[in-house]
Amino acid sequence: MYDIIIIGAGASGLMAAIQSSRQGKKVLLIEKMSQAGRKLRISGKGRCNLTNTLPLKDFLKHCGSEPRFLYPAFTKFFSKELMSFFEGLGVELVEERGGRIYPRSGKAQDIFLAMINELEDSDCQIIKNTRVTKLLVKNQEIVGVRTESGKEYLSNKVILAAGGESYPATGSEGDGIILAQEAGHNIIPTLPALVGLVVDYSFPNAIVDFGVKNAKATITNQNDKKICEEFGELNFAEDGVYGPIILTISRIIASTLASGEKLNLILDFKPAIDEKQLDENIIRELNLRGKEDLKSVLRAFIPQNMITFALTKANLNGFKQASLVSAQERKQLLNFLKNCKFQIVGDFGFEEAIITQGGVDLKEINPKTLESKLIKGLFFAGEVMDLDADTGGFNLQIAFSTGYLAAH
Ligand SMILES: Cc1cc2nc3c(=O)[nH]c(=O)nc-3n(C[C@H](O)[C@H](O)[C@H](O)COP(=O)(O)OP(=O)(O)OC[C@H]3O[C@@H](n4cnc5c(N)ncnc54)[C@H](O)[C@@H]3O)c2cc1C
Repeated sequence: MYDIIIIGAGASGLMAAIQSSRQGKKVLLIEKMSQAGRKLRISGKGRCNLTNTLPLKDFLKHCGSEPRFLYPAFTKFFSKELMSFFEGLGVELVEERGGRIYPRSGKAQDIFLAMINELEDSDCQIIKNTRVTKLLVKNQEIVGVRTESGKEYLSNKVILAAGGESYPATGSEGDGIILAQEAGHNIIPTLPALVGLVVDYSFPNAIVDFGVKNAKATITNQNDKKICEEFGELNFAEDGVYGPIILTISRIIASTLASGEKLNLILDFKPAIDEKQLDENIIRELNLRGKEDLKSVLRAFIPQNMITFALTKANLNGFKQASLVSAQERKQLLNFLKNCKFQIVGDFGFEEAIITQGGVDLKEINPKTLESKLIKGLFFAGEVMDLDADTGGFNLQIAFSTGYLAAH
């Protein structure tokens, strides 16, 4: 009989286990993978952007449609407390652009090690390679869990911290959502988010993985109504786009895209100047370099490795002498630079998604305690709930804060 059983040794489960152990509780942490914290260790491209210094009011704006749900968790344990927590474990932190907090070492591994070392030095029992397959419930009260081998572990408090469905290779394959559903919880349908988008175009090898720094990406619907737009960096893939602004957009359009609505992606490679000004610049360059061919004139507007893509997409002959470029061809070039349009045909899927949208319905969870309103003693932490946020350290803070609250 344990005081608390925690399912999943990810960011939220590790935090819940540490907080429970610090209260002197008899804790069992069950992890299905051979190693704990797999996702945490690869987070932030291996650097772990663990939180953000934005004030609570602004922070909540990045946290999806139910920011009020997170208010009690953040009030108890927010970015300041999280930073003190890691500094207390000997991890030096550093603030970077946009208030993003990282370990000074630049290693996500150090965040993970700080947590696991504390747990290994505590009385918390950790069992790995063990998958929980059932929540044991009697008369709407939790009594324990059953694992794949049929073994049962008993407790009157279970924290379900098994993550969502994104990056299944890290162990988050949606088990937690199924466990909650089988126990009677309503599930908001899950979708990959913070993920690359597939478009109706094959990009040439020269620009696959290439990044454009100052672009504007606009999403429109079939009636050309603007849905959202973002400025910043994006990258090309063979059949789509990814990178910071695309990830942000993917989270905004995830449900619209899943509903089957056709959406367009319009890229503006010269967002700092309007079409009229850009057209004048193009005319000037064509005149100045009248004897050169069009592809060399293009170098004044885009990086070398984007030229083949530009010529193909704009249907232009790169060998044409600049002085012979017609007004119509100039318009095609202008259109490529300012209104490069694609249809979005999908996303890169859960395999590559940073987060899962959807999960256990928040209406059935008490935000003040994170206890289930249906099953006494069952608590939730992290991405298994219908919670998701922008990139910038917001998702890990949600995991850590909910892990903290569920343990108290
Ligand atoms: C590549 C990548 C980079 C990211 N970078 C950042 C970042 O820099 N900053 C940020 O804020 N967010 C980042 N995120 C998002 C963030 O990592 C997650 O939101 C966060 O890890 C969720 O924590 P969690 O504890 O809910 O779930 P997870 O960390 O997914 O942990 C769930 C754990 O439960 C275990 N488990 C699942 N099912 C069972 C079962 N049946 N029995 C036992 N154990 C089970 C899993 O193996 C896993 O260890 C990133 C995500 C990815 C994929």
